[in-house]
Amino acid sequence: NKSEFGLIGLGVMGKSLCRNLAGKGFYISMYNRHVDGKEEDIALTFKKDFPELHTAKAFDKMQAFVHSLQTPRKIMLMVNAGKAVDQVIEEILPFMSTGDIVIDGGNSYYLDTQRRYEYLKEKGISFMGVGVSGGEEGALQGPSLMPGGDPDAYDKIKGYLETISARDPDGNACCSYLGKGGAGHFIKMAHNGVEYSEMQLIAEVYQLLRQGKNMQPDKIADLFEEWCQGELNSYLLEITAKILRRKEGNNWLIDLILDKAANKGTGNWTTVAASQLGIPATVLTSALYSRYISAFKSSREKASALYSPEKLSLELPIVHIKNAYRFARIINHHQGISLLKEASESYAWELDMSEICRIWTNGCIIRSAFIETLVPLLKKEKDILLNAHIAGMLKESYAAITQTVSEAVLGHYPIPCLTAALNYFNSYKEDRSNANMIQAQRDFFGAHGYRKNDDPEGDLHHTNWS
Ligand code: NDP
Repeated sequence: NKSEFGLIGLGVMGKSLCRNLAGKGFYISMYNRHVDGKEEDIALTFKKDFPELHTAKAFDKMQAFVHSLQTPRKIMLMVNAGKAVDQVIEEILPFMSTGDIVIDGGNSYYLDTQRRYEYLKEKGISFMGVGVSGGEEGALQGPSLMPGGDPDAYDKIKGYLETISARDPDGNACCSYLGKGGAGHFIKMAHNGVEYSEMQLIAEVYQLLRQGKNMQPDKIADLFEEWCQGELNSYLLEITAKILRRKEGNNWLIDLILDKAANKGTGNWTTVAASQLGIPATVLTSALYSRYISAFKSSREKASALYSPEKLSLELPIVHIKNAYRFARIINHHQGISLLKEASESYAWELDMSEICRIWTNGCIIRSAFIETLVPLLKKEKDILLNAHIAGMLKESYAAITQTVSEAVLGHYPIPCLTAALNYFNSYKEDRSNANMIQAQRDFFGAHGYRKNDDPEGDLHHTNWS
């Protein structure tokens, strides 16, 4: 008797997904490439370690793995994004048949997914790009899944994906078909972009509280836990409180961790995609650049010695910092949703923003009370900044973010994401921007022409400026 579902790549995520699938009663086959010098194969060792895998079949030979599956075959790849995905596709292809389905669950670049979708379609094989979020624990307990690709192929795999995924507050699967081609991986990329900003905003707030308000990490943890009791509740804020309580000997562990942020490229892809689609995702871009600046540790040390930046205490009340954070999070989510909307139009994906946020309510890294608020709101509202409830929140928090940004800048604190959020909002709510000057300059040196306020859709005018 053949297995119903196959998984290739037993790394951190692949292992957790296999245990999740087998634990739900599915008959699976698992494959990991053979590592030279190791007697026993990885899949077999893994199978022996977990009782829920007793019905799972383990392989280190590709042909035997593919042939162990019922047709149409359903094979999920959990290998590193990039050339490994293309390599594995080439390895399985000779053994596949028309109608089989390949599912890429890695963080693949959405344009690679579109390319693979077209390539495999020519060969009669369906390709699904499925964003997976939630990390190792999420993959095991129930991840948030963002599937894109062929809708008919989705119907054949949804039983597996929707069973293993997380549940939303109403008990529905945090997984549903989202769009064609590379839509699933684009949505996962946008999720990671929002995640970058959410993380950086917490890091900025943490620094203001630690240095500006002279609070010890455990006191900041108490405060973040208190914030988590209300509308600011989020997975990332919860884990930050736990991080801040951790000690190693007499030291706070956070103080022992090197201040150089790594990244795997998804924030870069989101920034590039936003820029190409003409979406000013300024908060996310600032979060990415903050990671890049952090990487220049030795230059920062030299600059610190040269400029000896002394940070000033902050006079502003903590509740202002809280409301500045609240304000910036709204702008961050607005920018992420704007990016998805533009991509949806550009690629004709017909994305449903409310449904995407519903999938993000549980299992994923950016799950939060605010995402839950967005699910019903996005059913009727296209632009969240024009919604009365959101406008109320922004108006309430505006003085707080203005004061926080001003005092933090005067006190020499780097707060790129808080500042970006405020500047974005200040630009967004201008009915008369300063872009008339840009148009005049373009016309002066390049004769590009400009339109006039009294005829905004009309012919271009040109002035002989000299
Ligand atoms: P790991 O590095 O833990 O595992 C990668 C797996 O891919 C290993 O089993 C590895 O095999 C296999 N592999 C790599 N190259 C090849 C190849 N050329 N041929 C065959 N097998 C190959 O990665 P993760 O499990 O963390 O991540 C997998 C994917 O999931 C990535 O795209 C990642 O971005 C994404 N992801 C990761 C999350 C996380 O929190 N870790 C969260 C969400 C998505 P071997 O053991 O032989 O090297």
